[in-house]
Amino acid sequence: MKDADQIAAARPRRRSVEVDVGGVRVGGDAPIVVQSMTNTDTADAAGTARQVAELARAGSELVRITVNTAEAAAAVPHLRERLDRMGVGVPLIGDFHYNGHQLLEREPACARALAKYRINPGNVGFGKKRDAQFSAIIDFALKYEKPVRIGANWGSLDQAMLGALMDENHRRPVPRDAAHVAREALIRSALDSAARAEELGLNTDRILLSCKVSGVQELIAVYRDLAARCHYALHLGLTEAGMGSKGIVASAAALAVLLQEGIGDTIRISLTPAPGESRTREVLVAQELLQTMGLRAFTPLVTACPGCGRTTSTLFQELAKSVQDHVRAKMPEWRVKYDGVENLTLAVMGCVVNGPGESRHADIGISLPGTGEAPAAPVFIDGQKAMTLRGEHIAQEFVGIVEDYVARKYAARH
Ligand code: SF4
Repeated sequence: MKDADQIAAARPRRRSVEVDVGGVRVGGDAPIVVQSMTNTDTADAAGTARQVAELARAGSELVRITVNTAEAAAAVPHLRERLDRMGVGVPLIGDFHYNGHQLLEREPACARALAKYRINPGNVGFGKKRDAQFSAIIDFALKYEKPVRIGANWGSLDQAMLGALMDENHRRPVPRDAAHVAREALIRSALDSAARAEELGLNTDRILLSCKVSGVQELIAVYRDLAARCHYALHLGLTEAGMGSKGIVASAAALAVLLQEGIGDTIRISLTPAPGESRTREVLVAQELLQTMGLRAFTPLVTACPGCGRTTSTLFQELAKSVQDHVRAKMPEWRVKYDGVENLTLAVMGCVVNGPGESRHADIGISLPGTGEAPAAPVFIDGQKAMTLRGEHIAQEFVGIVEDYVARKYAARH
């Protein structure tokens, strides 16, 4: 076991109750599960099936879809059938707000086709109807033997709960600040709803919780508190994380702290795609977060130096990219053929300063010549210098060495 893996394995892990979501284990000692959500109109079963398949093939282990209208609910069983015909078995999670109780009643085939129902206690219903509509959804979960995620959200906080806690706070000799009370309302909304679901007969192993907020520090504070107060499996995510690097950095910053403390059983990175950008980026970011933390392995990662004034050529940048692209393109085939290939580590370095050292730490590394160095690129395999590449075809030769290594080192799956 590598040093990083030992450190990762030694981190604490909060003990949660395992939940079976359509055959995918979430919580307990199961690996942390990657999930994502579509942004298509679910009523368009063909378009949604294409996107679900794309997300699943990118590595999403659960996919959530919006179920907001009668048309969307009616399309869900057709969507499931299409996916099954395409050989995509990924479990589908239905996201319900306001009218979930009606949609599940009207469309039993939808209720059956979904692997989990996600409900938001702040949006289940209002006033006197709230409790009845919540109970109705839990009754459907019992009837169809489905787990439920009770997902509270900062943007749709249960206002009745918040008002009651604000009143209670005003009566305290030393009132707490409003942000603290709002966090408590979010957590209590999830916990009280989960307690109610259990009273209605839903077992602990059919309940997951989430309490999503959009600020990094608030998310960490909320989940630390939530994790200490229950044993439900937790879905982790920074809501409305945003676009591009901001969304990635904010999500990674918040989730990394919590994951390192052993909090979180399934994650989603809620990125806003740029116009025309594939939705799969959120899946890759989630995988890379778990993999760079040493918590799971999905695809061989390439360590590359950033480059500096010691190398004026773009060769090492091009090589790093072509190696990473090659590995990603080969993974669907390798995953089927070779056991453990996702743990392969590669290094592409720009000069002699850190090149040989970093390359020795990887399974296979190459140290390209920096400015003024002899035009030779030593290759290191399993920590030993194995050969030196020269000339115009270094990239192709290095990729060939990687291919040979994979075929030799990883046992063929039967
Ligand atoms: S390995 Fe060499 S080229 Fe790369 S960042 Fe370090 S000094 Fe610069």
